[in-house]
Amino acid sequence: MTKIGLEIHCQLTKLRSKLFCNCRANYRGLPPNSNICPVCAGLPGSLPVLNKRAVEKAAMIALALGCEIPERVSFFRKNYFYPDLPKNFQITQYNAYGPTSIGSEGNVEIEGKVIRMRRIQLEEDPGRLVYEGSSEKTQLTLVDYNRAGTPLVELVTEPDFENPRQVRIFLNVLADLVENLGVSDPYLDGAMRVDGNVSVEGGNRVEIKNVGSFKDIEKALNFEITRQQSLVDRKIPVIAETRHWDEARKITVSARSKEEEQDYRYLPESDIPVIIVSREKIENLRKQMPESLAEKKDRYIKKLGIPAQVAEVLSSDKFYSDLFDKTHTESNAREVANLITTDLMGVADTREKKSELKIDNKAISDLADAIVGNKLTRNSGKIALLELVKTGKSFSEVISTLDLSNVSDIATLEKIIGEVFKEEEKAVIEANTNPDAVNYIVGRVMRKTKGKADPSVTLEIIKKMISIK
Ligand SMILES: [Zn+2]
Repeated sequence: MTKIGLEIHCQLTKLRSKLFCNCRANYRGLPPNSNICPVCAGLPGSLPVLNKRAVEKAAMIALALGCEIPERVSFFRKNYFYPDLPKNFQITQYNAYGPTSIGSEGNVEIEGKVIRMRRIQLEEDPGRLVYEGSSEKTQLTLVDYNRAGTPLVELVTEPDFENPRQVRIFLNVLADLVENLGVSDPYLDGAMRVDGNVSVEGGNRVEIKNVGSFKDIEKALNFEITRQQSLVDRKIPVIAETRHWDEARKITVSARSKEEEQDYRYLPESDIPVIIVSREKIENLRKQMPESLAEKKDRYIKKLGIPAQVAEVLSSDKFYSDLFDKTHTESNAREVANLITTDLMGVADTREKKSELKIDNKAISDLADAIVGNKLTRNSGKIALLELVKTGKSFSEVISTLDLSNVSDIATLEKIIGEVFKEEEKAVIEANTNPDAVNYIVGRVMRKTKGKADPSVTLEIIKKMISIK
């Protein structure tokens, strides 16, 4: 049986400062080594001061995943030598004598399967190595410490995944969860990185290190399972090692023999006092947490009467569920949900496209009201919506520029229907006995009005005009 476990590194990108100093947590786009101080550069004599907000945010993730938070939370030094780690140790958490990490033993359910969380720990991100050109050919490696000390949450699962598809679904659920909590923007470059541990029956465990995209981790795991299975089938031992995902060649390559825990010589971090977490503190934190995705979905279904499938799609996308929450009224909720999930999500499905949308909440609400009140057909509604988010104009402006308003006044509609009757005499004669003929006439009216007539009103008038019962 294939077994997969994950270690996910998630930056707390919504924090203002780093984990142990006042440098900016958002290091992206800054000139190299401009966002550093003696603490994050690891200069002798500097002392770390713990960012309390980071502890709270990490605790929120732990609570959202159903983890236990211990009464005493402490930090450890993980020793290893690498140029991106200026102190030669990383301040992290470690369960040496019972759990002292911020979270342990949680559960996440995906498609009816429970994935157990082993541990959640808060730690500092190392700096970054920058290669001139490709890492194999270059003579020069540069190091940028801007990232060093960025608050990072490591989430470790039990090896409960049976296939790479479950991994991808889990990662999407996790990304939605941290985004909804408002602790991280998982779609920022490098904000969420994944290590996968994978073994097949009869083989050793292999670690695939530091894959930056969910699609790639799925591909890397699939490749690795095939590779290991073919070794086992040929009775060649699978070596326990760390491998890298080569994105260009779409294969994993051997990186180094895997370190064992004892190689890291974990030591208690004596510069940071133990945090005593009272039950009261945890309850306070729970109260500050936003509505969970499951609660949100439930509210959409039970309070607003939105169909379950639409509620599922809407609640799992933070951008669109926020838009929905700001836009709908009690009477137009279903229609706003409809417009967003069927018309808007299809056009703007990426970050970039979402950021380009010019959104006027009132205009979207007005548009939904017009559809609910039969002043606009759904078809015209879609056209109007796309124009609204392209231009940022108000609803009335869009309707008048596009000339979309329904042919709703009865006299105009009767006149148009009269014209159709003259053109389609045969259908009118048949209409009394043949429902298809009636539908045909409705279709002709819709065509003549370019879809702006309300089909049900049109049908009523036709029936009255030729006195069909
Ligand atoms: Zn600093």
